Amino acid sequence: MDKIEHIGIAVKDLKASNTLFEKLLGVPHYKTEEVVSEGVRTSFFRSGPNKIELLEATNPDSPIAKYLEKKGEGIHHVAFSVEDIVSEIDRLKGEGFVVLNEIPKKGADNKLVAFLHPKGTNGVLVELCQEIKES
Ligand code: ZN
Repeated sequence: MDKIEHIGIAVKDLKASNTLFEKLLGVPHYKTEEVVSEGVRTSFFRSGPNKIELLEATNPDSPIAKYLEKKGEGIHHVAFSVEDIVSEIDRLKGEGFVVLNEIPKKGADNKLVAFLHPKGTNGVLVELCQEIKES
């Protein structure tokens, strides 16, 4: 795995949180994107070399809605950059980690993503993400 690509934060109200994080980081969000398949609307901030993703549920059955119900707002996942997501998934499975989606799916911000079950990672939902390169 490579560097932390971003940190995902679950929020109840994306608009209000955009305003809050703009004040906190001193920069506006540079992108808003909806991932319909995941029932989530996201916005992204850059702060120096770091990236923050805010996530809001777009329907009550979305995983983010369930997360908010159970745990409230806060850090939802930590995403690591990987060069080759398919071989990284294989490696992690070989190490005994439970991969929630063994076939990488298209996430926000032009990435292929896969998640590891937090039960196997000390309660941290880990996202792997690989930049989708234009071919
Ligand atoms: Zn993410």
